[in-house]
This record gives sequence, C-alpha cells and structure tokens, in this order.
Amino acid sequence: MHKIVCAACGTGYFHVRSDQGFNCDHCGSLIYPRDVSLDGSEVWAVDSAGTLGHVKDPAVSREEMTEALEEWLTSDDETSEKYALTTFINAAIELRDALRAGLPYPADA
Ligand SMILES: [Zn+2]
Repeated sequence: MHKIVCAACGTGYFHVRSDQGFNCDHCGSLIYPRDVSLDGSEVWAVDSAGTLGHVKDPAVSREEMTEALEEWLTSDDETSEKYALTTFINAAIELRDALRAGLPYPADA
C-alpha cells in the first residue's frame, strides 16, 4: 500500500476517524477519500493501523497477470519470455499488497 502524504504539511499520514474522514497525524488536516481522486486503476485502502493509502485495483492486477501469463505461454524468444514473467510478478505483488490491505479478491468479470 502507498500511504497518502498530507499535502498541507508534506510530512504526515492520514489516520481514520469515526466519521469516515482521515486526520493528518502531523498537522491535523482533515480529508475525506471521496474528495480526492485517484488514477483510474487505483483504489483506496486502509491498513491495519488505520492509515489511509491506495493500491492497484485487484481487478486490474488480475487482468495484467492473465495477459502476462498468455504472453509468456506464447513467447518464442527469451527476451519476451523474461519480460512477460517480470510483468506477471509485478502484477502479482500489487495484487498481494491489495489483498493484505483488506481488499477482496476480484470476482470473475
Ligand atoms: Zn499534515
């Protein structure tokens, strides 16, 4: 999970409050995730310590893993084989991070 750094002070991280908002642990700034937009392939996550962050959408990682696996199975040279495996591993790591942050395993599309 990539923790969100507070834009107001540049040093703090956001911790969960009881009203779905998050307070900076350094300057106290308040944000609500719905007010901040993410890259389309990213989703919000909160770790076990209550810190706000974002991870790759598990459905996107799953799709990337499927595509990389197909590339690997059909590759006919070592360079593209290595590239496909590296892509697969990176997507798998991002999926693991999302699952560790408590997001559900993506359902079948
Ligand atoms: Zn702050």
